[in-house]
Amino acid sequence: MRLILFDIDGTLVSSSRTGRKALGQALREVFGTDGELDTYEFAGKTDRRIVHDLLTAEGLSVSEIEARLPELDERMAAVGRELFTPDTVRPCPGVDLLLEALRRRPDVVLALLTGNIRHTAPLKLAAAGIDPTQFRAGAFGSDSLDRNELFDIAIERVRLSTGLHFPTDNVIIVGDTPADIRCARSGGGRVVAVATGPYPAEALNRHEPDFLFSDLSDTDSVLQAMLNPWAVSAVEGG
Ligand SMILES: [Mg+2]
Repeated sequence: MRLILFDIDGTLVSSSRTGRKALGQALREVFGTDGELDTYEFAGKTDRRIVHDLLTAEGLSVSEIEARLPELDERMAAVGRELFTPDTVRPCPGVDLLLEALRRRPDVVLALLTGNIRHTAPLKLAAAGIDPTQFRAGAFGSDSLDRNELFDIAIERVRLSTGLHFPTDNVIIVGDTPADIRCARSGGGRVVAVATGPYPAEALNRHEPDFLFSDLSDTDSVLQAMLNPWAVSAVEGG
């Protein structure tokens, strides 16, 4: 059995700057500022980390931020329902066919490991035409500031939801940033990197993913990497 943990932004979907816009609107409504949002580097960070960095830089204390997080999450969901549409959020190349092929496999469990908060992850997926319920569990950006901590959280949530416990070397992360690669390494899993986010293949390759694809459209090769990662040694594509 394999557990495949999908990142969302840049991996399953591309939403340009819509996620940033949604966060900015919610931050301004709840905290009166979105700080240096326009220039902040999002990729690979959890939403909690982003909010924490932006607001502490504006002089807010951690306790002031924490106290209003539930309200912020609610606003982000409300704004997300407005802004995440099929026009603004699109599936990345090959994602539909790959997920369809994976759903047919009895030896695969699909779950999420994403920087998006629990409230917005399903909205973004649904806007791109990806059924969020095919993912049996998830670790989200609302669970920790530190993406690496999401690895163990995801495995535990999958155990609670399916009764299956996955040894870490049967876990594969699919992601588009060096932070996804570090997360897999820190947890002891494998990683399939894909260059459909902000990082070109050469940049991802420097972080030595187990596999690297320019996008997920070569379904057979991606399946081979995910399901028989011990039988294939070369980094593909790129
Ligand atoms: Mg990503």
